[in-house]
Amino acid sequence: MRIYADNAATTKMSRTAVEAMLPYMSEIYGNPSSLHSVGQEAAEALADARERIAKRLGCTAREITFTSGGSEADNQAILTAAKLGEWKGKRHIISTAFEHHAVLHTLEALKKEGFEITLLDVHENGLVTAQQVREAIRPDTCLVTVMYANNEIGTIQPIAEIGAVCREAGVLFHTDAVQAAGHLPINVVDQNIDMLSLSAHKFHGPKGIGVLYAKKGIALQNLIYGGAQERGKRAGTENIPAIMGMAAALDEACEKMDENAAKLTKLRDRLIEGISQIPHSALNGDAVQRLPGNVSFCFEGIEGESLLLLLDDKGVAASSGSACTSGSLDPSHVLLAIGRIHDVAHGSLRLSLCEENTEEEIDYMISAVRQVVEYLRNMSPVYRDLEMGKREFIIK
Ligand SMILES: *Cc1c(COP(=O)(O)O)cnc(C)c1O
Repeated sequence: MRIYADNAATTKMSRTAVEAMLPYMSEIYGNPSSLHSVGQEAAEALADARERIAKRLGCTAREITFTSGGSEADNQAILTAAKLGEWKGKRHIISTAFEHHAVLHTLEALKKEGFEITLLDVHENGLVTAQQVREAIRPDTCLVTVMYANNEIGTIQPIAEIGAVCREAGVLFHTDAVQAAGHLPINVVDQNIDMLSLSAHKFHGPKGIGVLYAKKGIALQNLIYGGAQERGKRAGTENIPAIMGMAAALDEACEKMDENAAKLTKLRDRLIEGISQIPHSALNGDAVQRLPGNVSFCFEGIEGESLLLLLDDKGVAASSGSACTSGSLDPSHVLLAIGRIHDVAHGSLRLSLCEENTEEEIDYMISAVRQVVEYLRNMSPVYRDLEMGKREFIIK
């Protein structure tokens, strides 16, 4: 059996998305900036995609900027707020300790330029509260950036409430909604969002394309200078095939959102229930306030990397956290942020499902994880010490 359970890293493109792209890779190949009819055909498609995506977010087409993906959108949103803040002498930014690196590393770069960064503590259930944001806001705060759903542990933050707190304080609010788009409801007006990032490849669209929504009146800071594309705020000939694929994938994901969520929640809870039976295992993040497809566990006395390799041998493609962390020996900053100690955080496993997964696959994964964890623990001197009482279990 071969099972793909790493949909938080990337998804397989849907047939709908692939088919929406094909004409724009062959017949309709014009440059939307060209004045002739070949170009204008592409320009019309671009306008249509922008309109459809705007509708899905509850904003206007003019508030949509196409980017190369989630990372670029996060960078542009944060650097824009920093620039606007600087003009007013405001150099304080609030975020959380468990953001994606596209946010955290941008904030680190700003810190070197003299910005002050407050990273809110994350509660052990993987949530931050609007109250924490309220208490952290200062007169010189220029931005609050809090992710909608976490990519490793799947927890869903109270975005609308946080947005309301920011609105009241007159502080810009950005959310990295890359894990949420196409999976959770988004309405930038109802949720008081000033800027939002999304990326197509997390909802069965193509890689290398994303969106930055920025509320009317926010003058975006360029990351890329050049032509007048995207109202002069993001130069470069538009990636029309990818944009068409993204629009189609987002339409499809939003139309099927309730149906998919119901199916995924069932699969997710079955998987959580099965894995919870393994001794000294613990679910990471809140059991309810979490993405319908996210399952994240820590197992005491094992090492996540070996777990992944052995699962891969059994045909299961999983992750130990974020794809970006893999390959480095540091435990995930997300798991450390929710209070997992180093040793425990090392034994982590993320299984992120999509609506194509089946109950049969879930049951296979439960038994595969159980076997692999047992096998690794049998070889682990650390686990032997734990069993013999020479060390104390942290996960009871
Ligand atoms: C994947 C991801 C990103 C990065 O998106 P790319 O399109 O791969 O650049 C940013 N934030 C979160 C939460 C993600 O899951």
